[in-house]
Amino acid sequence: MPAHRLRWLLCFGAWLLALGVSAADTVPCGDGLTLRVSSPSPVQGSLVLVEVQSAAPLAQLTGEWAGQTLHFWRDANPSTYRALLGVDLERAPGPAPLTFQAELASGERRACRLRATVEDGKFAVEQLRLPPRFVELSPADLERSQREAARLREVFAAVTPERLWQGGFRRPLEAEAAGNFGRRRILNDQPRASHSGEDYSAPAGTPVYAAQRGRVALADELFFSGKTVVLDHGLGLFTFYAHLQSITVEPGQVVEAGALLGRVGSTGRVTAAHLHWAARLNQARVNPRDLVALLPD
Ligand SMILES: [Zn+2]
Repeated sequence: MPAHRLRWLLCFGAWLLALGVSAADTVPCGDGLTLRVSSPSPVQGSLVLVEVQSAAPLAQLTGEWAGQTLHFWRDANPSTYRALLGVDLERAPGPAPLTFQAELASGERRACRLRATVEDGKFAVEQLRLPPRFVELSPADLERSQREAARLREVFAAVTPERLWQGGFRRPLEAEAAGNFGRRRILNDQPRASHSGEDYSAPAGTPVYAAQRGRVALADELFFSGKTVVLDHGLGLFTFYAHLQSITVEPGQVVEAGALLGRVGSTGRVTAAHLHWAARLNQARVNPRDLVALLPD
């Protein structure tokens, strides 16, 4: 082969290698073990699907990302282990490696690492000016909202070790999403909590269904979110349905995918009927629409 041709081939090979590194959504870990993520550069507030493929059965598999323990499950394919990873919508952009330890049936251990970089969510910022009487809470309302926030934190912190969902996720009603997940709101020059869900405008009374199978972790009327249902899907994953006109489920009840949870309303601190749909994974506030995109029905 002529020297110039060889040089060209080597150069082309190096370029391919560089390309592989920059878009590494798959990492070979040796011994027939492969690690794959749906995105190596997830944006703030997104979910990432993690898949570990193993030619041989694994005795143990553990994974960690940014202090979060990954909870693996297996579907019909016994050689694929899957887990979800949640990037909180206010997590600072930048690199955060994903690490894994696997123990093969032979007792041998393998460690593997994947570079993941959190990207800016580029969320809209909304500046609002309102008379203080519409913004400031009375001491009683403030006390109530703080108590309820603590209760919700407790609900989201409890991890059910088994997976309760089966199959794909679906949106909970027939309506279009407003696309306002993550929006930052500045009220009278004071930054407020980011919008941690998606809003769906729909007439009051529109049925709201369970996005997937889960246990009712909360069914109550709260100050900000009005009549609210929280479903625990297991493995640290929750979905949240707010501002309902009525609730048709009881705390502790296990509901199937598509079960009626209640109806769209305008309860809580809102001005018009809509559903606020949110999701939490290992306490990270993530876009619920990612569940439907990554684990479709
Ligand atoms: Zn909302």
